[in-house]
Amino acid sequence: MALDDLYRDVILDHYRRPRNRGAPEAAGVVVEGVNPLCGDQIKLWLKIEGDTVTEAAFEGHGCSISQASVSMMTEAIKGKPVSEVERIISDFRGMMLDGAEPNPDRLGDLVALEGVKRYPVRIKCAVLAWNTLRLGLAERTRFHGQQVVLTHSET
Ligand code: ZN
Repeated sequence: MALDDLYRDVILDHYRRPRNRGAPEAAGVVVEGVNPLCGDQIKLWLKIEGDTVTEAAFEGHGCSISQASVSMMTEAIKGKPVSEVERIISDFRGMMLDGAEPNPDRLGDLVALEGVKRYPVRIKCAVLAWNTLRLGLAERTRFHGQQVVLTHSET
């Protein structure tokens, strides 16, 4: 099996069987992300306790790339310290937007999405979840017992 096929399988698997889908019981930060170009929509719930992302879950609809990317992202960040999550975001955005060589140790299966770069119009589909997450982390200090709801749009 060619490497490309293997990567496509990872993306399709997450699209068909999304991980961490559905609203968790309690999440301090809710971020809605939209990519009007493609019609992708996601809603991301984050629970951050101390310096750790203890919960990451989503709902959404849109193309396979946008939905696989957010599913894979929740798996990659759940249970990790915020500082490490920020490094993963930086690595992923670097791979997709700046042509940086991906770090497989840090990105794992997420490297599968690198192939999307061959279709520049779809890059926003892949980074939607990540820019949505970035906004949620940046604004997390606004959470003081009341759920904070934010909106990100790819333009
Ligand atoms: Zn899309």
